This record gives sequence, C-alpha cells and structure tokens, in this order.
Amino acid sequence: MADEILFISDCHLDPRRPQVTRRLVEFLRERATTADALYILGDLFEAWLGDDDPADELADVIAALARVAEHTELAFIAGNRDFLLGRAFAERVGMRLLHEPEILELGQRRVALLHGDLLCTDDHDYQAFRRQVRDPAWQSEFLARPLAERRQIAARLRSDSADAMAHKSEEIMDVNQAAVQEYLDRLQVDVLLHGHTHRPAVHDLPDGRMRYVLGDWQPGPSFISWRAGRDLVLHDERV
Ligand code: MN
Repeated sequence: MADEILFISDCHLDPRRPQVTRRLVEFLRERATTADALYILGDLFEAWLGDDDPADELADVIAALARVAEHTELAFIAGNRDFLLGRAFAERVGMRLLHEPEILELGQRRVALLHGDLLCTDDHDYQAFRRQVRDPAWQSEFLARPLAERRQIAARLRSDSADAMAHKSEEIMDVNQAAVQEYLDRLQVDVLLHGHTHRPAVHDLPDGRMRYVLGDWQPGPSFISWRAGRDLVLHDERV
C-alpha cells in the first residue's frame, strides 16, 4: 500500500495562462516527488486535439510530468477537455490511462475516481455532446482530419459551449444528487472523488458516505492528499 497518494484535476493548461503552468511545474517538482502516486482526474489541458500535436508551448510542463513519472506512479482519467489524450502521449510521459470510474481501496474505504462530468446529468445538452465525442467512430474520424482543421472545429465547439454556458443556471452545471447516489450505490463505494465543477468541497452524505471535490487551479494548486492510516484532505492553495 502506498504511503501517500495525491489527486489533482482541472489545471486547464493553456499557453495563454503561463502562471498555471508554472505553478504546476513547481507542484510536480516539489510536492509530487515525495508521493507514491499522482492521479490526474481530467482537464489537465484546456484543449487536447490529438497526440500528434507537438504542444511545444507546453513542453516544460510535459517534461516535468515525465520526470515525476520516474519515481511517482502517474495515472490519468480524461476530462471533457482532454478526452482525446491517447496512448501515444501517455507513453511519452510514462502515465497510465485509466477508465472511469477507477476504484481505489484507501484504508477501510472504497473510493471511486471520476472526472465529474458524468454526475452533471441535469445538463442534457452536454450529456448528448459527451456521448457524441466519446464515440470511438466520431473520435477516429475527427483525429483523421489535419491538425489545423481540428483546431478550427475545436474553437467553434468552445465558443458554442461558452454561449450555452452563459444561459445555464448554476444548478444545471453542478452534480445531480440522484446521480451521486446512483454512482455510490452501483459502484458500492464510500467516497466519490472528482473535479470538473470547480467547486472544491468535502460533502458529508447520508450513511457516512462522502463526496470530495477538487478545485481548478487559478493559478495555485487545488489538490487532495491521502496517507495510510489517515483521511483524505482537501488542500486549497489557489491564490
Ligand atoms: Mn471538466
């Protein structure tokens, strides 16, 4: 059993936000090197359009991930921004790609790891979009297009999504409580641990169950740590 496990999500790395990149590089060099494992629960990148994108502007942070992977087990669950991150990139940095939900036994508790978007079932338009873009046929068709064309399509999808989000209520974009309950029951877990909503919190649920929510990085770290014999702890250092 590992001594310490760290969880992060929602860095939304973007060459236009160099501060976040710098803070993540620091986190990887300092905090993550003493951990046994680092789980990245999606939306590491603001956009990922295929592993053939050299992503030169993010070379430093990609190199830092690869260095961490030399001594810390690195694992990744895709988010709604970087679901096209594939095996080639994972191999390049030495990161394990996980299927969602990944279930961990931490001490006495069974913990399900998710990005979190699957829990936002009130957002019907988004769930329909998700089904489309997670379809392997859609993905191989998209990835077969030239990178420049993929960039154009992604920019259009992002602006459509920004328009749609401007008209959605806060409730619609948060998790649905019935979906939370359904996941806890179906997976037979005590804890759900996820990001996506950018609402970092520790929620006590009925029957002693819990929901831990990671925050986004703006620009400092939001992370959850777990140590053998101790509880999960949410750290909010986002300033
Ligand atoms: Mn997300």
